[in-house]
Parts: sequence; structure tokens; C-alpha cells
Amino acid sequence: MSSLHELDTPTFRLAVAQFDEAAELMGLDSNLRERLKFPQRSLVVSVPIRMDDNRVEVYTGYRVQHDSSRGPSKGGIRYHPDVNLGEVAALAMWMTWKCALADLPYGGAKGGVAVAPKQLSRGELQRLTRRYAAEIFPLIGPEKDVPAPDVGTDAQVMAWIMDTYSQQVGYAVPGVVTGKPLSIGGSLGREEATGRGVVCVIQEALKHLRIEMGHTTVAIQGFGNVGSHTARIMYESGAKVVAVSDVEGGIYHAGGLDIPTLLAKYKGTGQTLADTKLGDCITNDELLQLNCTVLVPAALSEQITDRNAPKLNCRVLAEGANGPTTMGADRILQDKGIFVIPDILANSGGVIVSYFEWVQDAQRFFWKATDIQERLNDLMTSAFQRTLQFATTKRATMRIAALMIGIDKVAKAHLHRGLYP
Ligand code: GLU
Repeated sequence: MSSLHELDTPTFRLAVAQFDEAAELMGLDSNLRERLKFPQRSLVVSVPIRMDDNRVEVYTGYRVQHDSSRGPSKGGIRYHPDVNLGEVAALAMWMTWKCALADLPYGGAKGGVAVAPKQLSRGELQRLTRRYAAEIFPLIGPEKDVPAPDVGTDAQVMAWIMDTYSQQVGYAVPGVVTGKPLSIGGSLGREEATGRGVVCVIQEALKHLRIEMGHTTVAIQGFGNVGSHTARIMYESGAKVVAVSDVEGGIYHAGGLDIPTLLAKYKGTGQTLADTKLGDCITNDELLQLNCTVLVPAALSEQITDRNAPKLNCRVLAEGANGPTTMGADRILQDKGIFVIPDILANSGGVIVSYFEWVQDAQRFFWKATDIQERLNDLMTSAFQRTLQFATTKRATMRIAALMIGIDKVAKAHLHRGLYP
């Protein structure tokens, strides 16, 4: 990478390497290739907040818009100590391809603050969120750039951003964020949407591979929003969820974990997974190597590397997380014949229902839960089938197929609009 060295981090290099591989195969116009490698616009902000003990602490925040040729840019806001400009730029690029692949009229963006949110009080978290929202105010808006939850943020954080934005303009603007509480224009089904989408594409993959749901075992790395809803819906669909984990480690039960009991004992209780005593303790590394039908990484990026990929023992890898697999690992998985459902396809349920939320906010007309589930299933199933067909006819991997479909839609938008001025 010759320029923009401030983006040069492992996650950004991964996103660019994937893009380069797909761009090369599709013979993408070289001018466009240079443009799409880097973000359209990046903002770095200082976020000073008054702590409860009266000190002032200054955090660093980011908002990166990778592309807006097809519509407002869209993407979550991450609160995590390791957030940096390169990671946010990579996640923004993946949002561009994800939205294009799902046929949503959006570009891609991402934001974040380098902070450990669990170490803040509720008051500190609210002040951090409001100051961050005020700092990125010039960039966001329902027609410009629409944030949503990501790792470390939730509906309450979105509500504070919505309120801060609305206070500045003087009236309620629900459509400035998605993933909000229902009381201020949120959508039914948004919270579980990413998990529901992951399950939908797993079902499609199993059908393709002629494996019955009732004969399926699942291991899930990460038990936050994506992992926990994936676990619950897989369990409800008749699969055996044999292992789950969070940052502190995981639990394993060969006969299948009792997910409803696990959720009741774990969510909001402060207990660790091990505390629930519903399975034997395992490490995150052991979880990734379990013999299972479906492995779902639903935590952070670069978890499956060329070090542990040779030891993976699953038939299907469904990427709930963004960027969980490195380039080296990807090649190993291909050689092993593991069916990979790539992140920009597997976890697109979240942004799809975000799109439904934004449409409902614009219409001031709200849909039933069954309509949302049905439309989510429709969009995800057709994106899966399109990707599978492309991969089969072009003899490409599912990842490269998904990227090529997404990149091609963005390229067409750029070519039709032309270069300004
Ligand atoms: N943060 C989610 C993602 O990575 C959702 C983004 C959105 O809903 O805008 O896809």
C-alpha cells in the first residue's frame, strides 16, 4: 500500500486484499479500483467527557464513509478498545459490498470509539455517545449517512444519537439511525435480525449440501447480539447447538446445550457462560476446532488464521462476524472443502432490517413482525442463491462470488454517474 499509511492495519489490509482479488478477476477499471480501495471520506474526532469522579477523559472516535454512489452510506458504530482508523475503514468497505450484494440502495460506512464501554457508568456512556454524535453531526443524516448498532453498542446508544441529532435540528429525526427502540421509530425484528439472517443462509447451505437441520450440530464463537440470537434460532429450528463462547471462554455439551435455560441464566445476570454449569468449559481455540456441522464465528475479525484453519472440523462456516477469516486461512478452508458463507452475505440480515426500519421511518408507517421476517427471508434467500449460482458458473469461491456481485453493482453506479466535476 503506497499511500494512506494511517489506514495500514491488519484488518484494512485484509479488506483490501479481498477487494484486490475480486477486482483482478473481474477486470475492474483501474481508475475505479484506485478509488474504491480507499474511503470516500474519513473523520477522526476527539471525544472529551466528564467522568463520574470529575476528571475529563478524552477518547478518539471515527466515522468513515467508504462509498455513497448508490445512496446514503450505512453502517454501525463500534465501541471497543481496539477500534482504529484502519479497522473502521475496512468495516466501512465491507458495508459497501454488503449493501450492494443485498440490493439495498445504500453505500457503506462505519464508525467507532476506542473505548471499553463496560468500564463506563451509564452516565459516562451517555455523555460519550452524545459528544461523539455531536462531533460526527456534519456527516450523518437520514439522506446522508445512517449509523446503527455494532459491537459494544445497542438500541439505547442509538436513542441517544437520535436525540442528540434531533436536538441540533430542532425536531425528531427517527431516520438518522437504525436499531433504535420501538418507542422512537425502531422496527420489530431488528434486534434479532442478524442472527435470523445467519440462520436463513445456513438453512440454504444445508439444503444445498443435503444435510437435515435435525442432524446438524453447531458451534458459535461470540455470545453477543449475533451469537446469542443465532444460537436461539438454530435451537428453535431443531439443530443441536453443542458449544458457545464469549471473550472469557466457552461451554460444550455433546448432547446439545439447553439454549433457553442458558439465555435465562446468562443475559443481563453478570454470570459467565461457565457459571451457568450447563456444559464443560472449553477455550475459544478449542471451540473453533470442534467437530461440528456448522461453525459460526460471531465475534471479532481475524479469528480464523492460517495457524488454526488446518484444524477446523466443520462442514459449513457461516461468518456472523465481519472479517473473521484471514486470506491465508481462506485458502486452507477452500482446500479442505469447507463451504464458506462469507460475512457480507451471512451477516447482512442486520443491515437488511435496518433498511426496513429506515423505510418505515420515512413512510411513518410501520410493518408487522411477520412481514419483516418474510421480507428478510426473501432478500437473504435470493442473495444466497445469486451468490451460489455465480460461484458455480464462474468456478469461484462463495466469498469471491459475493464480492464480485457487490463490487460490480458499485462499479456500474460509478460509471453511470461519471467522475465529478
Ligand atoms: N453493524 C451491522 C453490520 O455490520 C449492521 C449495520 C447496519 O444496520 O447499518 O452489518
